[in-house]
Amino acid sequence: MTKTRYRYNLILTILLLAGFIFTSWFSLVIAKQSLFNGIENDALPLTSHLIHTDLQKQLQAPIIISAQMANNTFLHAWLMTAQDNKQLLFEYLRQMRREFGAVTSFLVTSEDQTYYRYDGETSQLDSLNARDNWYRETIDNSNPYTLNVDFDPRDDHQAVVFVNHKIQHNGVLVGITGVGVKLDHLKRLIDKYQHTYNRKVYFIDHKGRLLFYNDATFTDATLADKFGSHSAKLLNKNHYKLRLEQNETTTFINSRYLAQFGWYLVVEQTLTQDKSFSDTLYINLFMGIVITAVILLSAQLTFNHYQKRLEKMATYDKLTDTHNRQAFEPLLQKALHKARTQFTPLTMLILDVDHFKKVNDEHGHLVGDKVLAEVAQTCKRIVTTKGLTCRWGGEEFVILLPKATLNTGHELAQQIHEALRSSNCEVNVTASIGIAQYHIDESEDGLLKRADAALYRAKSTGRNRTVLAEAA
Ligand code: GH3
Ligand code: MG
Ligand code: MG
Repeated sequence: MTKTRYRYNLILTILLLAGFIFTSWFSLVIAKQSLFNGIENDALPLTSHLIHTDLQKQLQAPIIISAQMANNTFLHAWLMTAQDNKQLLFEYLRQMRREFGAVTSFLVTSEDQTYYRYDGETSQLDSLNARDNWYRETIDNSNPYTLNVDFDPRDDHQAVVFVNHKIQHNGVLVGITGVGVKLDHLKRLIDKYQHTYNRKVYFIDHKGRLLFYNDATFTDATLADKFGSHSAKLLNKNHYKLRLEQNETTTFINSRYLAQFGWYLVVEQTLTQDKSFSDTLYINLFMGIVITAVILLSAQLTFNHYQKRLEKMATYDKLTDTHNRQAFEPLLQKALHKARTQFTPLTMLILDVDHFKKVNDEHGHLVGDKVLAEVAQTCKRIVTTKGLTCRWGGEEFVILLPKATLNTGHELAQQIHEALRSSNCEVNVTASIGIAQYHIDESEDGLLKRADAALYRAKSTGRNRTVLAEAA
């Protein structure tokens, strides 16, 4: 391979591979970005919206029931007058619970903070116990009710949502009543997102406590543990999204404030470094290498094709399809060297078409061309692989016969005369031939001169004949 060609191949390879690497990498980045954007801007907000809708649907009834209870005349009358008839109260609470399919129903009096449960249990709230904080929070809250989540250790840690509704009598707070419901459907929905899409759904109350964490139990993790410096922003904005990159994973978090419940709904999705991305990159690169190889191969084939054509154009005579003089020169040198060193015979014929000028004059140049081509073909057909035919110039040809003696040359010349005579060509021509056998001490010029002199004699002695050169 030539230096230029090597350089060309190298540049082509570098350009193609660089192109493939860049486009593969670029398309991968774009694909990754659109996946990330899809999660961040579509999937997570949509999940959040669906969960919110479901939550609204499920909490609507308990909120209404609790409000009805808070305004119930019996309850008001009981609180004001007959607190000693507890059976009536329990009966009412049981009825409410039954009617609305709640897990529990309750009443707390503000006077002495006694907690009455539908099943007849009575207890005293303890302001120092964190479990009873909901009472203070409900009183302090400007809304008529608050929602509080607790879990039932006896029931597979199922979360129970309590609606705590204030009871106001003539503008004075006299108690809190409400029901506790299990959000079964919501839990199933959350579990579905967890299992199908690997998305975590949970709630955060205004104090930053994680609720409904769908790992079956509540974790003690606080917001700060999970989101660090982002937790403050998360609690201050109605909508907040963030992306946390850690080692090989990217976590997308979408939070929205649910004003009706005073909770933040958080949807979280974690993506680990996706193997399919790197697989795609490797496949693209592999394809790139294959295509580069194919392009290089076809470039080589095209190169070779044109190189051969150029070589042929440079060394062959187009009209007669024989070696031109320029290409013949080194071949002659080589043949002479071989004859000298290997002591093999070498014979040269010089052939000149007789009165060719007349052919041109009488039939035109185009016919002249055809005749020349025909003469060349005749020579080549007879010479075969025994020698080389060269267009020496005009209507003159040189035939070089390595390993051939003068006699062989003579026989061949006779065959050429005979073939020209019996030719079917448009115009029949004859030729004069001079033959010389190379002498070991002779120069290239010497051989040519002797053959030329023999040709001259063939011309001057009547043409259409072969004359053997005198010995060197
Ligand atoms: P002689 O027998 O003495 O060789 O006579 P001649 O007419 O063949 O010789 P001369 O040298 O006078 O003429 C050669 C002619 O060959 C002149 C030239 O126009 C013609 N010729 C040379 N090359 C070509 C060619 O490629 N095509 C055609 N058509 N004619 C050519
Ligand atoms: Mg001539
Ligand atoms: Mg001639």
